[in-house]
Amino acid sequence: MAWDFSTEPEFQEHLDWMREFVREEIWPLETLVEELEYDGLMRAMAPLQERVRERGLWAAHLDPELGGQGFGQVKLGLMHEILGTTPIAPFAFGNAAPDSGNSEILALAGTTEQKDRYLHPLLAGDLKSAFSMTEPDSAGSDPTLLKTRAVRDGDDYVINGHKWFSSNASIADFLIVMAVTDPDARSYQRASMFIVDVDTPGVDIVRDVATMEHPQESFGKYGNHAEIRYEDVRIPKEALLGAEGAGFLIAQQRLYPGRIHHCMRWLGVSKRAFDMLCERALSRESHGSLLSKKQTVRNWIADSAAQMDAARLMTLHAAWKMDTEGAAAARREISLIKFYGAGVLHDVVDRALQVHGSLGYSTDMPLEAMYRYARAARFYDGPDEVHRESVARQILRGYEAPADGVPTEHVPTRRAAARERFADLLEVVTSND
Ligand SMILES: Cc1cc2nc3c(=O)[nH]c(=O)nc-3n(C[C@H](O)[C@H](O)[C@H](O)COP(=O)(O)OP(=O)(O)OC[C@H]3O[C@@H](n4cnc5c(N)ncnc54)[C@H](O)[C@@H]3O)c2cc1C
Repeated sequence: MAWDFSTEPEFQEHLDWMREFVREEIWPLETLVEELEYDGLMRAMAPLQERVRERGLWAAHLDPELGGQGFGQVKLGLMHEILGTTPIAPFAFGNAAPDSGNSEILALAGTTEQKDRYLHPLLAGDLKSAFSMTEPDSAGSDPTLLKTRAVRDGDDYVINGHKWFSSNASIADFLIVMAVTDPDARSYQRASMFIVDVDTPGVDIVRDVATMEHPQESFGKYGNHAEIRYEDVRIPKEALLGAEGAGFLIAQQRLYPGRIHHCMRWLGVSKRAFDMLCERALSRESHGSLLSKKQTVRNWIADSAAQMDAARLMTLHAAWKMDTEGAAAARREISLIKFYGAGVLHDVVDRALQVHGSLGYSTDMPLEAMYRYARAARFYDGPDEVHRESVARQILRGYEAPADGVPTEHVPTRRAAARERFADLLEVVTSND
């Protein structure tokens, strides 16, 4: 019997240390993010990063030869659950998006020259990056519809296209761009990835799109989602990442573990919202009793706890499957947690916000920011509907329609078959009447 829900003691020590460190050293900085701005925040992070490095937890998602720990997905998942409690913890641990995902792509598909020029400086914090795939004019949930083209011209490629929601692009030094290299190839072999320096002629960062997360228009702030036009952007063939046509394959290899990390971070956020829900319910009184005495609120507490436990077990199971059987084997589990986990995050934050009333809606509590964060989780990295569709498709492969159209469990049909099979028995019983 190999089922085991325990954590090895040495790693549990790391987790305990991280929980304390994140809560005591990083949570307080959250309230100063606006005042410090990005550069000030990074200055505040520097000594914390040093402590994380000393502890051997820096960029733990990467292999040891790149300075990481080569942790498997279960360990990374448990770690992300703690780091997810605050949006700024990943800076201290060397795994802030999108640089962390881009570093994985470069580690996976980059040539030695690409690693020297982009990956090592990225890991050292000397460069910033963005991932540029989604387009305003094609459905991001079906990337086979991508329109941006990269056409080979001698020793170069020339890129033309229109992207948006390229997170951090307006402060990035280079972009990883997904573009169609062979429109006639099979749908998942049409696109390739390229490294494009932002100062390449023809790269036009049009604007940072104002969003639910940052409703005020601004430009060049950390966490932006940029709109970009690529007009006759000429790059050398050495800018191709991996093989031509391997864009989707590389993206999938990055997205599978990324989804586990997302789901575990969402659980960190959910737990923090849940703690606020319970605390407030114990102190706010209305209509003759504390909110904690109201059946609706008690149901919310129980339902939230059940949903969070379910999502946690599902996510760690998906991580375990990835570690033991590989990413492809965990496809169904990863799609399941992506939409289920996003729903749990949304529900728990929504209930916590509701319990706080106008205080929850105000920026005096972190719940309104969590709510906006939760809303986006339902469509980035694949909308709920697409993951549900994928799960249903995989499940239905294990079934077939009954040949005669009669349901297998149809009672009269089964009864007739059973009567025939047990005719002798039935005869004895009825003859005894
Ligand atoms: C905060 C944030 C950060 C992001 N960062 C990046 C980034 O760094 N780089 C990048 O390239 N992109 C990024 N994105 C974009 C993100 O990946 C896309 O929004 C996502 O892939 C969905 O694509 P879309 O917005 O074009 O929606 P669409 O594809 O137009 O889908 C819209 C809706 O259609 C419905 N739908 C789609 N397909 C189906 C189906 N098969 N069945 C039923 N309903 C369906 C769903 O409800 C879906 O939400 C980011 C988005 C957000 C919100």
